[in-house]
Amino acid sequence: MVPLRRIGAGLRGELWAKLESFNPGGSVKDRAALWMVLDAEQRLDLEGKTILDATSGNTGVALALVGAVRGHPVELCMPDKLSVERKRIVAAFGATLTLTDPLDGSDGAILAAREKAKDPRYVYVDQYANPANPLAHEETTGPELWEQTGGRLTHLVAGVGTSGTVVGASRALRPKGVRIVAVQPDAALHGIEGWKHMATAIRPLIWDEALADDHRTIGTDAAIAMAKRLAREEGILSGPSGGGAVAAALGVAREQEGVVVALLADGGERYLSTPMWE
Ligand code: PMP
Repeated sequence: MVPLRRIGAGLRGELWAKLESFNPGGSVKDRAALWMVLDAEQRLDLEGKTILDATSGNTGVALALVGAVRGHPVELCMPDKLSVERKRIVAAFGATLTLTDPLDGSDGAILAAREKAKDPRYVYVDQYANPANPLAHEETTGPELWEQTGGRLTHLVAGVGTSGTVVGASRALRPKGVRIVAVQPDAALHGIEGWKHMATAIRPLIWDEALADDHRTIGTDAAIAMAKRLAREEGILSGPSGGGAVAAALGVAREQEGVVVALLADGGERYLSTPMWE
């Protein structure tokens, strides 16, 4: 947890960033991947099975890492527009990749995984529908945020992809009076990897908009501009998703007093080969 001293100067509220890039696989999705794999181990016989999921990238890295450690083969369906870093990290952990048409976005990867999942050799963990995904955030992310702010947290601001982070953290934090701010891209075609434009996307089964108190949108340009400010003004290297979360949180902290935390789902190394840093 890092205070944003420059970007957050002169606001009504305090502005903080929770850096999920410090997880072993480099993103917030380590939590969901570990919870989903441990849950599958408990419920099913995984002998001879391959763990399968559709992912926009970070879940792929996380599942590949957890699969390597727990001894399960992993296969991932990903849109062929992901940064080369993500594809190579996944391959480095020994997972197999199926690339889908980039124009079909993350929904194309979901449809490909559903097709593959008909084969009984696969265990489709399905992060968009798996209760173990939000449970990871209810049991870890939420309580950590509360502890790391010394119980002072008033607003959590996070982007929505599968919605696991927002749904799980909301269950842990709303009973303590924390307001949950869910952020989406402002258009169907966007460049905020990991986020979903719910109105036009396949709706995740775990998503429940009633669990957020405030719904906001951020454009890709504003998200990237804030990622650049984070690097140059705060020394925090992040990507469009992290920039987008902070841009939304800045809006909240301008309007309201309290302790506002933006959840930065991953770090900037993963986007070095993308146009944002050219
Ligand atoms: N940002 C990034 C970079 C991500 O990879 C994800 C996961 N898709 C999210 C935000 C959203 O997290 P969640 O799936 O928990 O909604």
